[in-house]
Amino acid sequence: MLFRDRGVEIKTPDQIDAMRAAGLVVGGTLELLRDRVRAGTTTAELDEVAEDAIRSAGATPSFLGYGHPPFPATICVSVNDEVVHGIPGGRVLAEGDIVSIDCGAIVDGWHGDAALTVAVGEVSPAARELMRVTEESLWRGIAAARLGGHVGDISHAVESFVRASGDFGIVEDYTGHGIGTAMHQPPNVPNVGRPGKGVRLVEGLALAVEPMVVAGQPWTRLDDDEWTVRTDDGAPAAHYEHTFTLTPRGAWVLTALDGGEARLAELGVPFGGR
Ligand code: MG
Ligand code: MG
Repeated sequence: MLFRDRGVEIKTPDQIDAMRAAGLVVGGTLELLRDRVRAGTTTAELDEVAEDAIRSAGATPSFLGYGHPPFPATICVSVNDEVVHGIPGGRVLAEGDIVSIDCGAIVDGWHGDAALTVAVGEVSPAARELMRVTEESLWRGIAAARLGGHVGDISHAVESFVRASGDFGIVEDYTGHGIGTAMHQPPNVPNVGRPGKGVRLVEGLALAVEPMVVAGQPWTRLDDDEWTVRTDDGAPAAHYEHTFTLTPRGAWVLTALDGGEARLAELGVPFGGR
């Protein structure tokens, strides 16, 4: 790969194919976890399932040992008012919880990163709507990306969809990011912004888009564990993420099992996958 201005890593088509392999491990692991989320399960049990799935696919968890203090688990599990970076442990999931699971894996040095929020049994209509809006905003963001466009096009699409959908807060303390030989690379991909602004979208760029939306105010605080991010007002949060790239034919969502083909078609966007 080569690095463009502002440290943006440009991948060759073969390197994007390698990222697809990592993306499929992440996407497959998240689908497995979605089925395992139920009342009575601990978040540590989910972590164990994730680590087994990633390692048995010949991949390495991205998050384990990441950062300072080193993140102690394979996945982040963030329940209800926890926004992101929750540490799995003895917490027992209960009916009505919403659980955000963030997963990263490395294959041959290339990273994939994705997240979703799962309902535990029956959840409130408000929680259901929060999840729907957050998930849809992710796809609206990806669908707004075009070769020759800008990162701000994605940010603006996420923001405007969320703002038009009701009384939600968008967390701005954390953003999406470039991804490739490292999990977090330039450029940042904010969830608010203006079209036409920011780094140009070119072939070989890979981005993780990850809206964090709350049913209250967007302010967050950090727990004493130095990882868990929760809403300051205690309102519930949802978090969805995919890693994607643009090819000359269209968008390719590397962490979606179908490459994003179905959801992109719903939004009228050509599928650019191989
Ligand atoms: Mg992530
Ligand atoms: Mg990410």
